[in-house]
Amino acid sequence: MKIAQAQDQKFDVAHVLGVPLALVGLSEALGLIEGFIAAKRSELVVTANAIAAVLAHDDPKFALEIQQAGLVTSDGAGTQWALSNQGHPGIPKVTGVDILENFCRLSADKGYRLYFLGGAPGVAAEAAERLRLRFPGCNIVGVHDGYFPSADDDLIAAEVATTEPDIVFIAMGMPRQERFFLSTREILGPCVGIGVGGSFDVFSGRVKRAPVFWQRLRLEWLWRAIQNPSKIKNLKNLPRFVWLVLRSK
Ligand code: UDP
Repeated sequence: MKIAQAQDQKFDVAHVLGVPLALVGLSEALGLIEGFIAAKRSELVVTANAIAAVLAHDDPKFALEIQQAGLVTSDGAGTQWALSNQGHPGIPKVTGVDILENFCRLSADKGYRLYFLGGAPGVAAEAAERLRLRFPGCNIVGVHDGYFPSADDDLIAAEVATTEPDIVFIAMGMPRQERFFLSTREILGPCVGIGVGGSFDVFSGRVKRAPVFWQRLRLEWLWRAIQNPSKIKNLKNLPRFVWLVLRSK
């Protein structure tokens, strides 16, 4: 275990396949992100599950990119199991969906400026509309879909920057979303970039989150695969994740 330091905020981390997972729950993670905002830092937040850890294991470039994050949360039953296997039981899951939802609530109170970038055309706008109804006063300052070529990243980042966001939620899948933030952070200016995968699909109502029963059984990943068969190919990486974690002990 090692103490990570993001400015003057300290928290413990444990490495799973080289991914530095913060040993924090949701409220600590929210507090750390609020600290980044208060200090006007440019910080990347990664929510990493088992598939992300395997991706980082297989792609040294992505592994280095994750190392640059100010905070990496454990976002799945697989990473929870690996942490527990390393002697850190009971670390709660901190998902992109949870972080996004809570910042909409906090934004209504504290005025945080939120930008939604990613998803198919129309999805981020639908998610924003629904979240504004749920959290009146939630300050979503702009939305943009996630289907543009990397060659346009600087252009899109400049457009995002005009809205002066505190947080840019980037829902373009890994590693595209993390790469977008790291390569455009100078243009974006001081803000927190949080990779949230398919979260806008959930908040727009286009994809249903797993029922609580499935979540309790820690089978949210299976539910998502059933909802979106293109994810089934990812499932073969789960036994590989277990094997790699056990081998690295
Ligand atoms: N997406 C996007 N641009 C792309 C590819 C994907 O905005 O070029 C969006 C896609 O519409 C979906 C999200 O990125 O909303 C990816 O979600 P996924 O569930 O695959 O990501 P994960 O949660 O597995 O990281």
